Amino acid sequence: MHSFSDFSFNGKKALVRVDFNVPLDAAFKITDDTRITATIPTIRKILNDGGSVILMSHLGRPKEGPTEKYSLRHLVSHLSDLLNVKVQFANDAVGEDAVQMAAALKAGQVLLLENLRFHKEEEKGDRAFAEKLSKLGNVYVNDAFGTAHRAHASTAVIADFFGTNEKTFGLVMEGEVKSAEKVLHHAAPPFTAIIGGAKVSDKILIIENLLQRANNIIIGGGMAYTFFKAMGGHIGNSLCEDDRLDTARDILEKAKANKVQIILPEDAIIADQFSNEAQTRECMSNEIPDGWMGLDIGPKARMAFEEVIQKSKTVLWNGPMGVFEMDSFAKGTETIAHAVAKATSNGAFSLIGGGDSVAAINKFNLANQVSYVSTGGGALLEYFEGKTLPGIAAIQ
Ligand code: AMP
Repeated sequence: MHSFSDFSFNGKKALVRVDFNVPLDAAFKITDDTRITATIPTIRKILNDGGSVILMSHLGRPKEGPTEKYSLRHLVSHLSDLLNVKVQFANDAVGEDAVQMAAALKAGQVLLLENLRFHKEEEKGDRAFAEKLSKLGNVYVNDAFGTAHRAHASTAVIADFFGTNEKTFGLVMEGEVKSAEKVLHHAAPPFTAIIGGAKVSDKILIIENLLQRANNIIIGGGMAYTFFKAMGGHIGNSLCEDDRLDTARDILEKAKANKVQIILPEDAIIADQFSNEAQTRECMSNEIPDGWMGLDIGPKARMAFEEVIQKSKTVLWNGPMGVFEMDSFAKGTETIAHAVAKATSNGAFSLIGGGDSVAAINKFNLANQVSYVSTGGGALLEYFEGKTLPGIAAIQ
């Protein structure tokens, strides 16, 4: 497989799968263009090489075919400004409009196709639909890591219609895959995974896979209380998945057998209600009184977690340590964010991924002090669960 930088697009029509699934307000104005700006270097390189670009993406989850709310037309003007190129727009991803506009496209020009998900065939991974799309260009570039875990027509199936030297990752995808591979397969020890968030059930597969690879697994957030209850602790009204108590015990046993250190938050900040204005106290995590709930890790846990993170050479962080959206319960997550940044400045490789940990690192303005912030969400989680992602496999 070629690296993107080694690929020459001179004279090529590149069909580029991007993730332009951006939020729009009621007047169809883009409220966060991060996903668009991320792909600009990929598009620029193709144009600078002397190629042309056909962009394809989904937007939202349209159920009933073409819907104004989900039209990619709303992105044309902003994209044109960002690229400094007048972006053309095809009313349909595979119709006559798309075929004619793609055929007429010249070097240096950019065409955006209408939302792929206006066709049911996209999410079904329909081969005929993928083949029609593939005919629009002569090389395929996948730059949509956010949908790499889906075997959709434009993210995976389409790659079958291009030869080995006619398909490549774009820069976004390349960066994501490199950093994820580095952590999962080439982690320098000690490797510490920090897993937080609300539910054990969402994170079981990732923890089980990490039990084969990490040296330390720090568990914080609401999910920690299921572990404390499983060990016989008293957790008051804290979040708990009673149907996962056996799973928690099983994880603790496997960790012992694999010599992986599982580190739980010894103490908690407890509250008498789920509110920023609640009364709060410090308390041992396994002695929480009835009527109170643990909403953040406590000072002892902050110190213990910090110490382990500082000594690590590889850090993976997914999920907040508490209800960080409320300032009263943000301190644990903030401490961890600073510890990860400090470890990084001391030479560790740090990867932050999964929706809420990205929001957290941004809240504390530390995104540029860690090695990599993934835009992947579900795709990154599935990667760390040890699954093969169709979007990656199709290119590799
Ligand atoms: P997840 O999407 O599973 O990573 O969970 C993130 C959510 O978990 C955030 O919205 C947090 O507010 C929430 N959370 C973290 N810690 C706790 C806790 N101790 N109790 C309740 N919710 C929590």
